[in-house]
Amino acid sequence: MGERWSPSSWRSKPILQVPVYKDQAALQDVEKRLAGFPPLVFAGEARNLKKALAKVAKGEAFLLQGGDCAESFAEHGADNIRDFFRAFLQMAVVLTYAGGMPVVKVGRVAGQFAKPRSTDTETIDGVTLASYRGDIINDINFTPEAREPDPQRQAMAYRQSAATLNLLRAFAYGGYANLDNAMKWMLGFVKDSPATDKYRHLAERIQEALDFMRACGIDPEAHPEMRTTELFTSHEALLLGYEEALTRVDSTSGDWYATSGHMLWIGDRTRQPDHAHVEYFRGVQNPIAFKCGPSLEPDSMLRLLDVLNPEDKAGRITLICRFGADKVEKHLPALIRAVAKEGRTVVWSCDPMHGNTIKSGNGYKTRPFDLIMGEVERFFAIHEAEGTYAGGIHLEMTGKNVTECTGGRAAITDTELSDRYHTHCDPRLNAEQALEVSFKVAEMLKR
Ligand code: PEP
Ligand code: MN
Repeated sequence: MGERWSPSSWRSKPILQVPVYKDQAALQDVEKRLAGFPPLVFAGEARNLKKALAKVAKGEAFLLQGGDCAESFAEHGADNIRDFFRAFLQMAVVLTYAGGMPVVKVGRVAGQFAKPRSTDTETIDGVTLASYRGDIINDINFTPEAREPDPQRQAMAYRQSAATLNLLRAFAYGGYANLDNAMKWMLGFVKDSPATDKYRHLAERIQEALDFMRACGIDPEAHPEMRTTELFTSHEALLLGYEEALTRVDSTSGDWYATSGHMLWIGDRTRQPDHAHVEYFRGVQNPIAFKCGPSLEPDSMLRLLDVLNPEDKAGRITLICRFGADKVEKHLPALIRAVAKEGRTVVWSCDPMHGNTIKSGNGYKTRPFDLIMGEVERFFAIHEAEGTYAGGIHLEMTGKNVTECTGGRAAITDTELSDRYHTHCDPRLNAEQALEVSFKVAEMLKR
């Protein structure tokens, strides 16, 4: 490469998956305003996440990454954020306690608004309109006006991200995340489900452990780890004009950081080594990831590692593998061997969602729970066989009781999908299904 990087150097490269804005002056005006807004996250926090991920790369911790496929303006309420937070905390507690591993928590949250699409247009009943590209770009309603990209939405996404992050920080540091509350995080949950029962049992054991500490004269509250938690944010940095506006020089290190979220990733459709997204990512010092789908050859992966992490810094790169339950055995071993042969340092994470999307008999985009678990199980087995570490999972999930993925212990059927199918993009695990996944992963971590 060797060319000079700047926050805008991506603009001279080929780019895919971008909206075409009619009003360029309005776009420039929004980008200029965003560039003057405060950062959403600090460089020091991104560095802390990188350090935590370096431990994951070494096999000393586990990465839990998850949240909505797409956040939406319509669902921006305190209840949604709280429900996500507590479902995520529960999963983390399960992995920490039952899996015996420190867990690095990274939400797909407070910035996950831009969506790559497999087609530029969508046709319903003979009417063809531009595809929905996420609330930061256009509106999901199927009208020509709604589908027109609107630059003002970038400012709305920024403000929503700031408000979401504010509440998450309050939950994380203001007492809600206190381990003493592990039982209370269940409130509002589906009663009497197997995953909930299992969780209640675990929360009781945690309570006993805390009571025991107190009886011995140790105050758990004296340890910040017991009364607070650290939750990082992440999103697919697809809309590069927005990202550029929030790219800032860190005053302590003098390095460039993306301040729209702690960790950013490149999607499976935009990871061409000589294209705009890779160009943008190579210059920011945040921990980053790229999605690895069936079309990624080992050579291209190595090239991406060279461009994005030339000095092989631990914690810099997470490879989010999303092959599909039936393809992971064909594709993953070659990538693992290439990384090992070149002596590269990465975090291996499994996204069992995006390779397992199917259409249900009644027309819903869904993901069967068994396929999701099947990919996770194979991912772990392959790493065990290769002598490498399965370091994380990446899930599309919500804290709500939606019906978007079929199966699980509650055995959601195709016909039940219509009950509470609320996603703005891809089908998510509901809180109970997500908890179920974490119990199963905890068992795998123990092995
Ligand atoms: C996503 O994570 O929502 C996504 C679009 O994933 P991928 O790039 O792997 O298709
Ligand atoms: Mn998705």
